[in-house]
Amino acid sequence: MASLRSGTGVQVVTPSEDHTFLLDEDALQKLLLQPDVKDRPVVLLSVAGAYRKGKSFLLDFFLRYLDHTYNNGDGGGEWLGTEDEALKGFPWLGGSERHTTGIHLWSQPFKATTSSGEKVVILLMDTQGTFDSNSTVKDNATVFALSTMLSSVLIYNLSQNIEEDDLQHLQLFTEYGRVALDEIGGKPFQRLQFLVRDWSFAYDHPYGSVGGEQLLKKRLLVRETQHEELQKVRQDIARCFEEVTCFLLPHPGLKVSTDPHFTGKLSDIDPEFKSCLKKLVPMLLAPENLVPKQIGGQKVKARDLLNYFKSYVDVFNS
Ligand code: GDP
Repeated sequence: MASLRSGTGVQVVTPSEDHTFLLDEDALQKLLLQPDVKDRPVVLLSVAGAYRKGKSFLLDFFLRYLDHTYNNGDGGGEWLGTEDEALKGFPWLGGSERHTTGIHLWSQPFKATTSSGEKVVILLMDTQGTFDSNSTVKDNATVFALSTMLSSVLIYNLSQNIEEDDLQHLQLFTEYGRVALDEIGGKPFQRLQFLVRDWSFAYDHPYGSVGGEQLLKKRLLVRETQHEELQKVRQDIARCFEEVTCFLLPHPGLKVSTDPHFTGKLSDIDPEFKSCLKKLVPMLLAPENLVPKQIGGQKVKARDLLNYFKSYVDVFNS
């Protein structure tokens, strides 16, 4: 089994100046048409959100878990690794690409068997963009819409809280996605996981999924007294996804957020953060929690995913 060190994030969708999108078909074929991968149903986990909000850091932990659970990467022990190990981050993005808006896939698919005995393949996706002005939100909405359409689990990575803006952006992505899918009836998307980073109100809502559910309930509540727009945003989100959940992560500690020489050493990360990760990651990636991607009620195999990438990008480019 190839080591994680030889893997990398591969940019497969890149927006161009003229507002169209470039698909790296060769890279996708290399990934999805491998003989032992192409016929397996796909579990596609996408982490979507703005730059510099800890997505790569989180994806590194997903990789550790996947490697440990499905590749027997280190043959036992704790998936998170040992405290004193200087675990360097995996190179999701090269230096110059650091802030490229677009969609990246991890170059190594993980072969797994679900608890019901189904042989699937797990792919990890990173979707980046900016949301600092109305124009950038619009420019990036298509990339996020694509990510929403292609993933079976969409992790919406947010900093500190779920704000009205975050809900509005999400509504925009799902709206673009729904129009492109031209779906009649049924919920077009599967699982939406809000992930709030640096949650600092644990006395209101505790870290983890219990506090997450409380916060989500509050934020997604539709009230008669609310402005119509606000009501619609909430109804649209609930209508689009089969399952919506939320998890509150604490701040990982100052070494992680401010030390330029931080290498991912576990002893430099706050214990509370690590304990939350130990709950969050298996909730998403343990064999009994894997969600295979479905489109129109059919499971999507790796080779079908290639065609969906192509036709969705074509729709947005036309
Ligand atoms: P990305 O651009 O979203 O992929 O962000 P990165 O994973 O590269 O992280 C950006 C910076 O934030 C790095 O210095 C990380 O060490 C740091 N970081 C990672 N996770 C967190 C977090 O949960 N909270 C804070 N405050 N910083 C984080």
